[in-house]
Amino acid sequence: MSTEHDYDAIVVGSGISGGWAAKELTEKGLSTLVLERGRDQQHGDYPTEHLPPWAFPLRERKLTPAQAPEHPTQAHTPSFREATTHYFLKDAENPYVQAKPFLWVQGSQVGGRSLIWGRQCYRWSDLDFEANLKDGHGVDWPIRYADIAPWYSYVEKFVGISGEKLGLSQLPDGEFQPPMALNAGEKWVKTRLEKRYPDRRLTIGRTAVLTQPIGDRLPCHYCGPCARGCSTGSYFSSQASTLPAARKTGKLTLRPSSLVHSIIYDLQRDRVTGVRVVDTQTGETQELYARVIFLCASTLATTRVLLNSRSRRHPNGLGGGSGALGRYLMDHHLRQGASGEIPGLVDRYYQGDRPNGTYLPRFRNLKAPDSDRLGFVRGYGYQGGAGRAGWGRGSDRPEIGAALKRVLRDPGPWHMGLGGFGECLPRSDNYVELAKETDPWGIPVLRIHASWGENELAMRKDIKAQAAEMLEAIGCHNVQIQDGLEREDMTAMPGGAIHEMGTARMGRDPTTSVLNGDNQVWEAPNVFVTDGACMTSSSCVNPSITYMALTARAVDHAVNELKRGEL
Ligand SMILES: Cc1cc2nc3c(=O)[nH]c(=O)nc-3n(C[C@H](O)[C@H](O)[C@H](O)COP(=O)(O)OP(=O)(O)OC[C@H]3O[C@@H](n4cnc5c(N)ncnc54)[C@H](O)[C@@H]3O)c2cc1C
Ligand code: SF4
Repeated sequence: MSTEHDYDAIVVGSGISGGWAAKELTEKGLSTLVLERGRDQQHGDYPTEHLPPWAFPLRERKLTPAQAPEHPTQAHTPSFREATTHYFLKDAENPYVQAKPFLWVQGSQVGGRSLIWGRQCYRWSDLDFEANLKDGHGVDWPIRYADIAPWYSYVEKFVGISGEKLGLSQLPDGEFQPPMALNAGEKWVKTRLEKRYPDRRLTIGRTAVLTQPIGDRLPCHYCGPCARGCSTGSYFSSQASTLPAARKTGKLTLRPSSLVHSIIYDLQRDRVTGVRVVDTQTGETQELYARVIFLCASTLATTRVLLNSRSRRHPNGLGGGSGALGRYLMDHHLRQGASGEIPGLVDRYYQGDRPNGTYLPRFRNLKAPDSDRLGFVRGYGYQGGAGRAGWGRGSDRPEIGAALKRVLRDPGPWHMGLGGFGECLPRSDNYVELAKETDPWGIPVLRIHASWGENELAMRKDIKAQAAEMLEAIGCHNVQIQDGLEREDMTAMPGGAIHEMGTARMGRDPTTSVLNGDNQVWEAPNVFVTDGACMTSSSCVNPSITYMALTARAVDHAVNELKRGEL
């Protein structure tokens, strides 16, 4: 049974990208329907937000896959804990086939992963937007930094990014709120590192966490467990930020439990007219119509919808004509770096639980591809931070009873960690396709083929070596190198950084790309893809602020085109 509804716009997904699409479309006067496959989640209704550890059966521990029968895949990620399980997808609801190991971490509720993300926000630069053109991997981006810079400013002012300006061309400064403070250990590292390596900087993370109020969102009070939800709205989430703005316009309709199956293409009119939706509570299917569609279901979920939108005109899925749909899947490679003990500072500590770490921006291959002659192109940055060991170190101590308690009364030594985030090249043989297996609603699931290539593996060696060299050079003790890939840790595999990108890339040429420079599907200009699926390369910095800027930019374009009668 099908019922028709008319909206100006339909947005698929209510996470970081979908929230932005909803806000921008409604504020520009369009009646907008947001379809979200997951359950409803109201801002402030965060049941575990400030519960103490003893309120949880296992004292709020990190659950292993064996301890999480409904989430065996999601449980691989470190932020999957007793207190956060309800923000992760139940794996049986959206299974996938791993042709090679791939970790697909997903949220499935209103707000998507905006509730559990790590909030690190860095602008891309022309080093990133020109990389494909210069070294020949992938196709050229159809935009440059100048095209997106005003949109970064626009979204940053609304999101609220705290951070420090550095004046680096490879990591452009933005519209920052005052930065959070480095602790004593990090200051110690910074002073020595920048003296020893004048081309390298250590700064506090640029983060979507407020240090000054924005409207009714309050500055962070450093309570710490952000991934449980933040009722003061101190970090950016769809709940706290974009969806309330969209609601205020009176133009928003938000439907949870609405899984988009595919896009409807009308052969007679040669245009996309709407979407097919499954109500996940009743199993009922509906067709819903709009003038423009924004696909913001997250990288792989969006591409799955496109691949599943097969028609006589689009036998390989909507946007499948070039052969690029599903291909050039990327992620950052991580779980590689080093840590070391900072000598001294035993009289120094810190207050509160700062929801942020340090950042050491890219310093490799800044002049040209492989300009540092290291055997790889592109580069990496380090996230990390310093802290003092707590009473948990007691499990390794020889003392028992009162003697052990006495030792643990004081904090342990300072440690500094540097974890690399490396750029991944866009390669055709990293791809997704529809499998013959289906999800509980009969929709084909994805089969994912992805592995690290020679460039990523060569870069990993340098990331580890440089982290260890820097820590040793500044005087840290007991420097240890880490490599999750050697331990076959799933978070070191593709997908593990949870920065999956590509599979419906932007480009200049409809024969080699899926989207044009305004995020429109070449084959269906009233369909926009503005989540990570659109990415043409991966940079080495966290991507979500770029999805936000691209979404706001694409909505502006869509609304102008609608006004001109072009869509
Ligand atoms: C632990 C963790 C830490 C992270 N840290 C960072 C960080 O520090 N910085 C950074 O930039 N990024 C970070 N990320 C990544 C970031 O969360 C994602 O890049 C971002 O959420 C992507 O936004 P999105 O809107 O595309 O997808 P999501 O936020 O995942 O939202 C997609 C929504 O679409 C819904 N959906 C999916 N399929 C359908 C369908 N067919 N029909 C209807 N609805 C559908 C989903 O249920 C979901 O709610 C992190 C992620 C995690 C999990
Ligand atoms: S640390 Fe700050 S952002 Fe995180 S939950 Fe607490 S108040 Fe919110």
